[in-house]
Amino acid sequence: MSRRTAAIKTLGCKLNQYESEQMRVQLESLGYQMVDYEAGAGLCIINSCTVTSRTDRDTRRLARRAKRLNPKAYVVVAGCYVEVAPTDLEAIPEIDLLLRNADKSRLAQLLPAAEGASDTAASYGDAGPIISDFSGHTRAFVKVQEGCNARCAYCIIPDARGPSHSVEPEQVLAQCQALVDAGCPEIVFIGTHLGQYGRDLDSDIDLAQLINLVSQLPIPRLRLSSIEPREITPEIVQMLRDGGQALVGALTPDPSPGGRGAKANNGLGRVLEGDGELAVSGKLCRHLHIPLQSGCDSVLERMNRPYDTAFYGELVRHIMQLQPATGIGADVMVGFPGETDEEFEATRQFIEDLPLSYLHVFTYSERRGTPAAEMPEQVDYELRKARNHVLRHISEQKRERLAQSMVGRCLEVVLQTPQEDGTVRGISDNYLEVDVAGGAGRSGELVKVEIDAANDSRLSGRLAE
Ligand code: SF4
Repeated sequence: MSRRTAAIKTLGCKLNQYESEQMRVQLESLGYQMVDYEAGAGLCIINSCTVTSRTDRDTRRLARRAKRLNPKAYVVVAGCYVEVAPTDLEAIPEIDLLLRNADKSRLAQLLPAAEGASDTAASYGDAGPIISDFSGHTRAFVKVQEGCNARCAYCIIPDARGPSHSVEPEQVLAQCQALVDAGCPEIVFIGTHLGQYGRDLDSDIDLAQLINLVSQLPIPRLRLSSIEPREITPEIVQMLRDGGQALVGALTPDPSPGGRGAKANNGLGRVLEGDGELAVSGKLCRHLHIPLQSGCDSVLERMNRPYDTAFYGELVRHIMQLQPATGIGADVMVGFPGETDEEFEATRQFIEDLPLSYLHVFTYSERRGTPAAEMPEQVDYELRKARNHVLRHISEQKRERLAQSMVGRCLEVVLQTPQEDGTVRGISDNYLEVDVAGGAGRSGELVKVEIDAANDSRLSGRLAE
């Protein structure tokens, strides 16, 4: 009898990608063979995203497509769209089951018996199963936190992912250990709002301590996916400064009353001073992705972002002063309601003057259920696109500048994809692509590379002896 087939289509963020891996592990434990979505599998799962109305549309389209590809398919929609607008999906006859985000870790129990689920299937608790590889990726994402306690005016995520909640450090350690045992060269910590890690846990731990804890494993290197400006602590800045070296030790406990949360939020002072003697991991990549969203204070205020440009600018300059090789990327949104030409020009100038190394530029799009969607003075769409174009050009220039500054240096690179010219393309710790001569057959390894040249924003080099 041929094995049951299943396919998972993942939309949206890194969290969804990690949870899809966990759902894959469960389906394989039920005996399913994983196939491509276009193969017309017997069980089709769409791990949905609801960040924009476009991702909603894609989710509905994929559900109908699954039934077209295989009229007998059992179609499941999981995740954020289900959390925010289940009635939309209940109205679609092609969909057989809706799963919320918290249900994903119990997929094996929640599928109907006809689809292979059984009470005897392994149950994994809220954190879900441990994964030992990341479906063909050399680097692996590890979920450490989910949800968000903030309320940015354009964002629906707090409604989809709920309040911030952290994965217990023991579970994170076990997950990282499994990936290290499988030879994974780099782990990327992911979450909705990483910097809020630990605030909901009984144990007195924060993100820096978690990094230190995991760094005690024989893990080659660790990367943070994205971190909000106000949550970059002195410990994390110190780790960047010492990036690329295995320096591990106990953190100095925080003596001040009011604990960590209050301390982290009392402005920039503490970050700049550096807090006394700290022993920190040197395995953290010299790379930070710090959402900016706008370079204009009046827009930041309308967005309900918890900082101003002075704070953000000083933070970035401080980090680059301590560790000039750091790759700092920023999310920027253009066309937010009411954004005038003057406000956009302020954003353009602010970014131009800041030592960032790349931008992720998003064109604002109305999201039903967010305060911004109700705001007056929605910006003309063509103007939004034109502003997006301006910032993307600046981003390319910044990436090239960081690349140029790496020529003649030695960088640590995770080798990934063989190229036709015999080199292997990889990623440096400060988030630059590098084509490495002599790397053939060593994909998946972390190696030292002498950088010879920069071609636009891509580097080329050879293995260091
Ligand atoms: S954009 Fe704001 S509300 Fe949305 S997840 Fe990030 S911090 Fe939370």
